[in-house]
Amino acid sequence: MRTTNKIINAEETSESIRSKLKLCGTRTYAGYWNWCRSPCCDRCRRHRARVMADAVSEWALGQNSFTLRKLRILVPHCSGPDSLLEAINQIRITLRRAFDRRQCEHERWGSICCLGCFSPSFDGASWSATFHGVLDLGRVHEVTFLDAIEPLAEIRLQSFPAALIRNDVYTHMHFAFARTSGLSMCDRIHLSAYAASLAARGGFKPLLFRRGIQS
Ligand SMILES: [Zn+2]
Repeated sequence: MRTTNKIINAEETSESIRSKLKLCGTRTYAGYWNWCRSPCCDRCRRHRARVMADAVSEWALGQNSFTLRKLRILVPHCSGPDSLLEAINQIRITLRRAFDRRQCEHERWGSICCLGCFSPSFDGASWSATFHGVLDLGRVHEVTFLDAIEPLAEIRLQSFPAALIRNDVYTHMHFAFARTSGLSMCDRIHLSAYAASLAARGGFKPLLFRRGIQS
């Protein structure tokens, strides 16, 4: 609960974020559990990581392992968490539009599936983020995909070793959602600013990119 406690203890953290994080994991009067569902909450982030990893590794079993890739997207450096989340949003919009446009031209682009999560990093001076996700190229050739998408964002594709596909996808997806190592340079002030930016944009939603995979 390292990230969570730092945010709770920061004077800069707003009362509404603090009480949400503090209530997470406690029981309501009606006997339900409180879940804050914030990516800043270690408990909720790990829970989300397990759920996503389970769903996507299960889904991957039904796919052709030769078309599955690890997808990495690098987000350029930004001055603060707000501008970083805006940059992430721009990349999500750009990719969605590119996929939509190509899908109108060639229906095979409709066979592309992707799910993953942007994880932010702070290096002591500026903010950046890396997207880790699973991509199914479907009926699109890898070269065609790269030709179309590489000019729009800094992306890397990597194959999964075919033999262990389920475990590999599980590990990769869990890592994508659970990791906070990029935030280790953050002090309380940085973390509470990050928490405020995320809370204002609706929690996990601004960090996800999803296409064609339901979970
Ligand atoms: Zn929580």
